[in-house]
Amino acid sequence: MKTLSVTTRANQELVDITGEVQGAVRDLGIEDGVCFIYTPHTTAAITINENADPDVKRDILKGLDHFQLEKVDFAHMEGNSPSHVKSSLVGCSQAVFVEGGRLLLGTWQGIYFCEFDGPRTRKVLVKVLGGAEPCRKKALQRKTGRGGDNQL
Ligand code: ZN
Repeated sequence: MKTLSVTTRANQELVDITGEVQGAVRDLGIEDGVCFIYTPHTTAAITINENADPDVKRDILKGLDHFQLEKVDFAHMEGNSPSHVKSSLVGCSQAVFVEGGRLLLGTWQGIYFCEFDGPRTRKVLVKVLGGAEPCRKKALQRKTGRGGDNQL
């Protein structure tokens, strides 16, 4: 597992961490599997969305603000319930397939750390679980003395 450090500069901000996550996947050295991207915070989140037009990340924040959560009479004494609700709405993790050491993101997709109660320095955990196919292939080769994809 790799731990990324993300320093946010605003109270609410989406930070593109695609390059850092891809770097962590490369460092972890697992070529094929599933990459989990998880943030262990209660007022932050991880999402995947368009990274071509910077207006999209602004619009995501604007869309969440449209709920007008600051007008709700929440009970939580700390006063940051809108941030907690946004964290739960967006979610604290994502999973992306990895093949040949590369994240299988779409052409227009980027991975974003979502800050809802900043600015702060935050953690993002990245772990790749290796796929089972090579193990199945080896087991089949032992059993049959042959190999080949068409037998799976
Ligand atoms: Zn709180």
